[in-house]
Amino acid sequence: MRLSERAKAIKPSPTLAMDAKAKALKAAGEDIVNFGVGEPDFDTPENIKEAAVKAIKDGFTKYTPVGGIDELKKAIIEKFKKDNNLHYEKDEIIVSCGAKHSLYNIAEALFGPGDEVIIPSPYWVTYPDQVILNDATPVIASTDEKNSFNIEPDILKQKLSNKTKALILNSPSNPTGLAYDKKGLEAIAELAVEHDFYIISDEIYEKLTYEGFSHISIASLGEEIKQRTVVVNGLSKSHAMTGWRIGFAAGPKDVIKAMTNIQSQSTSNPTSIAQKAAVEALTGPQDFIPKMVAEFDRRRKYMIDRLNKIKGVSCVTPVGAFYAFPNVSSCYGKKFNGKPVNSSLDLSNCLLEQAKTALVPGLAFGDDRYIRLSYATSMENIKKGLDRIEEALARLE
Ligand SMILES: *Cc1c(COP(=O)(O)O)cnc(C)c1O
Repeated sequence: MRLSERAKAIKPSPTLAMDAKAKALKAAGEDIVNFGVGEPDFDTPENIKEAAVKAIKDGFTKYTPVGGIDELKKAIIEKFKKDNNLHYEKDEIIVSCGAKHSLYNIAEALFGPGDEVIIPSPYWVTYPDQVILNDATPVIASTDEKNSFNIEPDILKQKLSNKTKALILNSPSNPTGLAYDKKGLEAIAELAVEHDFYIISDEIYEKLTYEGFSHISIASLGEEIKQRTVVVNGLSKSHAMTGWRIGFAAGPKDVIKAMTNIQSQSTSNPTSIAQKAAVEALTGPQDFIPKMVAEFDRRRKYMIDRLNKIKGVSCVTPVGAFYAFPNVSSCYGKKFNGKPVNSSLDLSNCLLEQAKTALVPGLAFGDDRYIRLSYATSMENIKKGLDRIEEALARLE
């Protein structure tokens, strides 16, 4: 068939592709350690599952309002008040089929031909493609590990033009695990207000933070910045609910209304059953979260420590999410069993073949000097995988 230019411009998610490759090798009987995963390895808490079962038994299995049931919107409003000191009305909230879907609705509602959207790199793989899918232009702004991968105001200024429509912010970040403090956010907010562009703030990892780091939403810094920010969040990461597909966004009425119209002509409402489970996730007991975070923290410390002891690897200490993002560029120019290693893709392929360890090349996130390892897997797997990587990299020559 003759595909649209738009469809041809899009590549499949490289993280999902790597995960699929690792799973295929595993299914073929190979003993693969998978550091490619992007979801908690914990099961959804029992009380949330029970709420879903009850919804089914009660016959809550029909269409709901497109942007989510009132009960869930109310729970989301309470969440923003309690966690972020943000006050929204019902018509400033939309529930979608995952945070990724909320982000897609935003892109459709705001971006079009001629618009430029600034994306700091390293970035989550989906952002540039969602911009391209809506005929706008991603403008990539590099950040540096020396500055905790925070975008420097001078670099941001250089990227601004009269076409700048928005900046996509992700703090804590996938893939770097770094986050913005209040000062960093204030610098961005000031520029956004002064130069009149929007902020899309993806805060999906807000609950997964370490080292006493406390997440701040950029929208909470004042009324002017709130009026130009759409906050995106969801339950996938905080409540181990990736498969349930519930995400949400909060922002000015007009953009939420446009997103709701778009959703009404595409997916309609998120699953009725998952919405009831989401109400329980937000309003029920939250003690599951600190337990999960404590376990991630233990693995994080172990992984970062081990990585930094491997020759040729250096890794900044993440304060959020569940990823390590080590710089491996000093391995480039060397050889693995005679095979040259000159990029993050070369290294990832070698580690999959030679060390039976799957991870994601930094190139997928816009920075070829790095690789991404997820620690959302058991301590036993982490030890095994790091032993293998250490042993394999020692053989680089
Ligand atoms: C996992 C992830 C999401 C998407 O979450 P869903 O709610 O499952 O769609 C969004 N942004 C980032 C940065 C993520 O890592």
